[in-house]
Amino acid sequence: MDQSQIDALRTQPVLPFNHLINGRHVGASDGARMEVLSPIDGRVLTSVAKGTVADMETAIASAREAFEDRRWAGQPPAARKNVLMKWAQLIEENALELAVLGVRDNGTEIGMAIKAEPGSAAATIRYYAEALDKIYGEIASTPTDVLGLIHKEPVGVVGAITPWNFPLMIGAWKLGPALAMGNSVVLKPAETASLSLMRMAELALEAGLPPGVLNAVTGEGAVVGETMGLSMDVDVLVFTGSGGTGRRLMEYSARSNMKRVYLELGGKSPNIVFADAPNLLEAANVAAAGIFRNSGQFCVAGSRLLVEATIHDEFVAEVVKATSAMRVGDPLRLDTHIGAVNSETQLLANIGFVETAIAEGGQVVYGGERMLQETGGYYMTPTIVTDVKADATLTQKEVFGPVLGVTSFETEDEAVRLANATVYGLAGGVWTSNLSRAHRMVRNVRTGVMHVNTYGGADGTVPLGGVGQSGNGSDKSLHAIEKYINLKTAWIKL
Ligand code: NAD
Repeated sequence: MDQSQIDALRTQPVLPFNHLINGRHVGASDGARMEVLSPIDGRVLTSVAKGTVADMETAIASAREAFEDRRWAGQPPAARKNVLMKWAQLIEENALELAVLGVRDNGTEIGMAIKAEPGSAAATIRYYAEALDKIYGEIASTPTDVLGLIHKEPVGVVGAITPWNFPLMIGAWKLGPALAMGNSVVLKPAETASLSLMRMAELALEAGLPPGVLNAVTGEGAVVGETMGLSMDVDVLVFTGSGGTGRRLMEYSARSNMKRVYLELGGKSPNIVFADAPNLLEAANVAAAGIFRNSGQFCVAGSRLLVEATIHDEFVAEVVKATSAMRVGDPLRLDTHIGAVNSETQLLANIGFVETAIAEGGQVVYGGERMLQETGGYYMTPTIVTDVKADATLTQKEVFGPVLGVTSFETEDEAVRLANATVYGLAGGVWTSNLSRAHRMVRNVRTGVMHVNTYGGADGTVPLGGVGQSGNGSDKSLHAIEKYINLKTAWIKL
């Protein structure tokens, strides 16, 4: 990939997108549309169908019919595998187009998007395609006059609701295992990042997925998302997004058919640096990248830097140095490190968090401002705030933007207490040369993922899931399969 290929794609008109229901592109039942603004320049990029309650109901009915007539679940595993492998191949063949379309829609810097979006999505789909004929049922150890079989069955209709930060990667985390296990799916992408995911869904049909097995409806969460949540015909709801929406989804489930709800929510992940870290310079560089890439818009972002007091000042100075070397700007340039914030609403919320941090005694040692406003786009300087207290808003609330809070600690126990002092428990990191301390920290910090002497980059072989108010269930790895199957017992008298 070189800059000229990206530049050739960046100005191409983007045709309006419609829903994908039962293999056909259809507009909203009332003809309504939503404009899509590009965070690069704030201009209208295209439009998508603004889904209605009726649209979502039609999509769910289509998925239900496709499941009941077994057009997908009834195919031999090898046939399903071939379709998913072909889909992964098509995603790779269209990788640059998908990545550029996604960046024009959500603002992620292209260097990261190309790897984290189509690259990761194709790898995920392929992983579950390869796994699907290697997942067996079980035979229980029963007395000899009975046979106890445990079948792994698809659940039925899966509703998948995704956020805007990495639409393809996160979409694939849900679509891959759901489809591999024979379910039908209705997808509801985020309002501000639906285009590349809608295109990726189309590619599934091109790969041979039967119509109706994967349906996708664009529109507002409060309308089409709520309809999905309240549906009596959706069996499992899988979600990545904010805690507030996650809470609503659980309510919808309770008010309707008690569908299973799996939530991947936010985090306030501590990145903990001890004075005995093997390489403090590397730790500083990784700490900066671990919060500021994609403008801090990733769930596992190391948004709280906990630094041992003896090295606090020199370490913060190194993080500032690493941060000041990161170029913020046009996300479609390969030499950009930090692209655009996804929306103006999000940008203003980020600035508000910085103002609150200052009011609560924090010191802004780098950034804190909106920038490049003349472009019409939504850009923010990566921001570092020191002297952040344990009960400060910047410790307790997820910003989901390029804002790093720094707190110092004296002892290992204090580091653990600070790390665990929020309602979240998604990810964390520890930097130390002391092997025993590293293992103690992994054990004592309450998160779904702990990194040791690195931050981020865990691949698809390991689960990603939160504890506490960061969610339940996991994406990635074979463990994700559990969300998309029912166990059925056959108890047979011999
Ligand atoms: P959000 O909750 O606002 O939106 C997520 C999705 O939910 C969107 O598709 C939206 O349309 C839909 N939605 C909104 N209201 C709804 C409703 N009432 N009913 C049904 N659906 C509704 O979240 P966001 O701002 O798009 O995403 C950012 C959040 O996602 C952050 O909190 C981030 O940490 C989290 N996230 C978590 C992970 C993870 O793996 N744990 C990964 C990425 C992002």
